[in-house]
Amino acid sequence: MKAAVWHNREDIRIENVPDPKAGPGQVKVKIKTCGICGSDLHEYKSGPFIIPAKPHPLTGRANGPIILGHEFSAEVVEVGEGVKSVKPGDRVTVNPLIYCGKCHYCRTGQYVMCTKLGTAGFAWDGAFAELGVFPEYGVLKIPDSVSDDAGAFVEPLAVAVHAVRRARLRIGASVAVVGAGPIGLLVMQAARAAGAGKVFVIEPLKGRRELAARTGATAVFDPTQGDAGKAIGDLTDGLRADWAFDCVGNQASFDTAVKVTGRRAVICVVGLALKPIEVPFIRLWGHEKEIVFSSGYEDEFPAAIAYLADGRVNVEPLITARIKVDDLVDKGIKELIEHGSDYVKILVYPK
Ligand SMILES: [Zn+2]
Ligand SMILES: [Zn+2]
Repeated sequence: MKAAVWHNREDIRIENVPDPKAGPGQVKVKIKTCGICGSDLHEYKSGPFIIPAKPHPLTGRANGPIILGHEFSAEVVEVGEGVKSVKPGDRVTVNPLIYCGKCHYCRTGQYVMCTKLGTAGFAWDGAFAELGVFPEYGVLKIPDSVSDDAGAFVEPLAVAVHAVRRARLRIGASVAVVGAGPIGLLVMQAARAAGAGKVFVIEPLKGRRELAARTGATAVFDPTQGDAGKAIGDLTDGLRADWAFDCVGNQASFDTAVKVTGRRAVICVVGLALKPIEVPFIRLWGHEKEIVFSSGYEDEFPAAIAYLADGRVNVEPLITARIKVDDLVDKGIKELIEHGSDYVKILVYPK
């Protein structure tokens, strides 16, 4: 089969590899479409990053060659021994987390904290390919009302739903989302779907602000023009936002999250850059603001599927390009690295 294989940084090759086989407890699927994630760009530019450098304790894979791609929809073509929950022909998506099921965190249902956590598309072959094989426990059916394209958003939407849950969002609360990239735009829609009141988006790029407004933001602000905190104060009787989601994770975005929130606000850090961030403790202390972190997802896939199935979350406007896997590097990864601001999500098709 054809697949996009990561061999090293700046070395992803489209090649023919043997078809994978479904072992016991595994499901073989035909990939329909797979989105390109920021982490894929990271692996291309400066990996191995999430790709394990040492043999992964559960999968044994390290340093490539590995097939990237972890945001996808697919159709079951074969099931391994003992698989009962799906059958050939089922339309599915896959929670790509691979976990041990035995450590303290797994046993308390906190899979994303598994001490041996791995992810398909990094520590196991992913979905920039014609076929894939995944453990049954990660495979979830998608209903007919969720298209194959929308199915590729279940994974990033699960990131957004997890953030809303980690932040313990209160129904009716006002929310500020800092950064309207793919995750910020999905956090904004997930917060609305979960019952937020007003939802504000702060984003320097005009096209992304327009997209946020088109997909449900109450008001959008350019952080480079004027004081977003004051403007949000004007729309909330001077209170500012009750919750903020920092979907960028650098000093400027964190400072914005502090500025646009009011007393006892919760700031949920979703995106995170590698550099340390200075935190103005005195301002957080005086107003008893909280910082919480949200990294990945656990069991939010069914919620994400439900939001897509009934239309509460609309991902169609977020698809800015569709390409073939043959063009993954030139029209996908390189394009996003060089002209990322022109795109939100690029979907990749095996043919
Ligand atoms: Zn991702
Ligand atoms: Zn575990």
